[in-house]
Amino acid sequence: MPPSMSKVASYNVNLLDLGADAVTLEWQVGKPFFETLDQDLVSDGLVDVTLRIQKKTASYEVSLHIEGQVTIPCDRCLEPMQQDVSGDMDLKVQEGDEFCDDGQIITIPADMNTLDFAWNIYECIALAIPISHTHPEGQCDSAMTALLNEHTASSTGDPRWEKLRELTVDN
Ligand SMILES: [Zn+2]
Repeated sequence: MPPSMSKVASYNVNLLDLGADAVTLEWQVGKPFFETLDQDLVSDGLVDVTLRIQKKTASYEVSLHIEGQVTIPCDRCLEPMQQDVSGDMDLKVQEGDEFCDDGQIITIPADMNTLDFAWNIYECIALAIPISHTHPEGQCDSAMTALLNEHTASSTGDPRWEKLRELTVDN
């Protein structure tokens, strides 16, 4: 977990407050959330988050649901595009020697009473983004597409680039 995560304090759950009944918490995350996290993918968005946490004998079961829209760079023209996202994530929280979050099991020391779910919420959103994402056909930024095509062409066929590549290899 990156250290910057501590800045997003409002996605904390106090484990001491939990009784026998499952607790459902709801948030809406937007631009400030994505800006605070140390990540380059999502620049903006509006995503509804539902977190359900159930206390068990020696652990907690957590299920996350996210649904909304994020702004991410288009694969084709690199300009911002809107992407609908919807996803679920199940997590287990258990006690252990030191803090560890492997994406499925969060291990916490016995004296840790507050859990920050900001990074888990982000991961759930990031996993819901399709691997390939582009503007609808014909709606890419035309100037940027032209520039990228030009660059692709020059870096594969231009003799000056070949020369540069040779020099780089020699060093
Ligand atoms: Zn595009």
